[in-house]
Amino acid sequence: MVATPRSTVWEPQPTLEPAVGPAPADLGPLATAWVDLDVIGANVRLLAEAARGAAVMAVVKADAFGHGAIPVARTALESGATWLGVARIEEAVALREAHLAAPVLAWLLEPRLVPAAVARGIDISASSSADLEGIARAAETAGRRARVHLKLDTGLHRAGVPPSAWPAVLRLAARLASGGLVRVVGVWSHLSHGDVVGHPEIERQQARFADGLAVARRFGVRPEVTHLANTGAVLQGGAIGGTMVRVGAGVYGIDVFGGALGACPLRPALTLTTHVVAVREIAAGDGVGYRHDWVADRPTRLALVPLGYADGLPRGAVGSRMLLHGRSVAVVGRISMDQAILDAGDAPVAVGDPVVVFGPGRPEVGWMAGATPSVDDWARWAGTIPHDVLSGIGARVDRRYVRSDP
Ligand SMILES: *Cc1c(COP(=O)(O)O)cnc(C)c1O
Repeated sequence: MVATPRSTVWEPQPTLEPAVGPAPADLGPLATAWVDLDVIGANVRLLAEAARGAAVMAVVKADAFGHGAIPVARTALESGATWLGVARIEEAVALREAHLAAPVLAWLLEPRLVPAAVARGIDISASSSADLEGIARAAETAGRRARVHLKLDTGLHRAGVPPSAWPAVLRLAARLASGGLVRVVGVWSHLSHGDVVGHPEIERQQARFADGLAVARRFGVRPEVTHLANTGAVLQGGAIGGTMVRVGAGVYGIDVFGGALGACPLRPALTLTTHVVAVREIAAGDGVGYRHDWVADRPTRLALVPLGYADGLPRGAVGSRMLLHGRSVAVVGRISMDQAILDAGDAPVAVGDPVVVFGPGRPEVGWMAGATPSVDDWARWAGTIPHDVLSGIGARVDRRYVRSDP
């Protein structure tokens, strides 16, 4: 047994058991994100169909938009995806450590981690000659060819080689490739308006991408994959000139068009639940929560839920609601770091009552049917997008994986 250092200022309690009386009923984890892997699988299949024969890279960055990178990656690969995409090299290393051997691209170049990426056969992105030179040095040290995707800036102006520098980068890439230090696995770019129906910038970027590929061929650079389209672009027009698509939002059932393309065939996969941990009655005129942002105009009953902004509830949400035992009720007062307060009105409410924060619900559990708020509702209340709400679900929230198709 490892000896714990003794504190001189505070002696911990010797036990977590209550001194007297029965232990309180076990109500399970305080908050749970239920992720339906069958829904994830169905979404990936739908996106693969929309990609019309192009390969599918499932984007599992930011812990798969809060859903859990490893289970989502496995499910996506079982459902038609053949590539994985993440932002950071560390995220790709975690996939490798979970024995996921599929090709994986990490597009945020972190110089100190390039040797780790090269050693694990993780694909990395280069946006400049300097990037390529750094990657080549790491490959030389590792004695192994680096797998590189050259990124062309076709108009997002975030990362990527500006078109004016493209020939010089291609010349260097071709030289490093023939020297055995890099392998140009891919050429790629990213869209600024993929989620805007029919936006002319999509076509402009597609044309610049096609031009960039033609220039690459002239320099003898023949990548195995080319990729430009994200979820919005795939749903509008397929792979738009690439041999692969990179889909994130759609995998998680986010309607990136916000309804502008009609009913979205993709389904949300995540339901966030909690339960009531305390009930109290207050009088008309009583203020609730920090700074009394809400004051009761009638006697009412409050239900406390153990979930706050550190768990991903947007603190700035206005007019937000949750489903309390099948009834839609208002969140009142400021959402605090770990807790939020519901106005249960005069209906009966008890400790342990189930609460759905958002989600499609879980069909097999009747109490979740009804006016369940969606992640889109929460995004609207918070003035943001569902991506932000989902990826903000905190580490204290338990993740549970379910399958709806038996
Ligand atoms: C997040 C991301 C994607 C996925 O885009 P979606 O719109 O979520 O499908 C693709 N490519 C890059 C570079 C990204 O950062």
